[in-house]
Amino acid sequence: MDTCPICNTYEMKRKYTFLACSHCGFMKTRELPLDSPGSAVYTPHYFRSWGMEAEDNPSVEKMKRKTARFLLKKIEDLTPKGPLLDVGCAFGHFLQEANDRGWDVYGVEISAFAANLARKKWGEKIIHDSFLAAALPEKFFHVVIMSDVIEHFPDPRPVLEKTKKIISPKGTVVIVTPNTKSLSALLMGRRWPHFNPKEHLIYFNPETMKKALENNDFELLKLGPSPKWMNLNYLNSQFTVYRHPLFTPIINFLVRIAPQPLREIDVPLLMGDLLAIARKKDT
Ligand SMILES: [Zn+2]
Repeated sequence: MDTCPICNTYEMKRKYTFLACSHCGFMKTRELPLDSPGSAVYTPHYFRSWGMEAEDNPSVEKMKRKTARFLLKKIEDLTPKGPLLDVGCAFGHFLQEANDRGWDVYGVEISAFAANLARKKWGEKIIHDSFLAAALPEKFFHVVIMSDVIEHFPDPRPVLEKTKKIISPKGTVVIVTPNTKSLSALLMGRRWPHFNPKEHLIYFNPETMKKALENNDFELLKLGPSPKWMNLNYLNSQFTVYRHPLFTPIINFLVRIAPQPLREIDVPLLMGDLLAIARKKDT
C-alpha cells in the first residue's frame, strides 16, 4: 500500500497518470525510482529546453537573473546576508545575482555538464553531486534555495531533513515548485505542462507544502505565487522540447511572426509555481 509522505494517510488513489492522497492532495508518479534524481537524466539534452545545449547563453542569463532578483528581494526582507546554497544551481545564474547583492554563494549540481560550466566561474564553491549525497557543513547556510528542484526527488522527507541539518539557527529555506492548486493547473487538468512524470516525481499544493515544512520544524513565513521572467525564444525552446497540444503551436507561431527584439523581451509570467519561505524553529 502506498503511504502519503506528508500526512501519512494510507490512501493514494489514481489521478490522471499519478497517485494523489485523498486526505491532503499530495501527488506523486506511480512508479518512483528508488534513488534520488539520477544524473543520467540531466545531460546537455535536458538543458536544450533552456535553449542552452552547448554553452552559456547571455539572453537566458539576463532572464534568469530577473527571476533571481525577485526571489532575493523577498529573502533579504527576512534573512541577514551570509552563506547561501542554491540546490540544483545549474549554470549559476541565481548565484551570480546573489553574489552581486553581497551573498556568499555556494551551489550543488547533479548534472556534470551544468556543474562544469558553473565551476569555470565559481570553482570549488560548486559541488558536483546529488544534494542528498553531497558533503555539506552543518548549521552553516543562512539560506538554502531550491527552485524547480524538490519535485525531481522521489520523496520530500530526506530533502527537508538534510536542509534542516545544514541551515544555520533561524536560517531560511526557499522553495519554488509547481502548485497543483494553481489557476493554470485547475484550468488545464491533465494537460498542465508541469505534469511530466519522468522528471517531476512529486507535486505539492499550498497545504501540503506547509505541512511538509512544519513536519521538519520549519515555520512558514511566506506562501504565494512565484512569477518567472520569460521571453518568447525561451518559451519556444521549452515548448519544443516539452510538447503541449495547445501551447506548442501557439508559441511556434508567435516566434515566427515576432521580430527578434520582441522575442527577447522578458516578462513576468505566473506559470503555476508556488513560492514558500520558511524559517528553522529553535529546537
Ligand atoms: Zn496526504
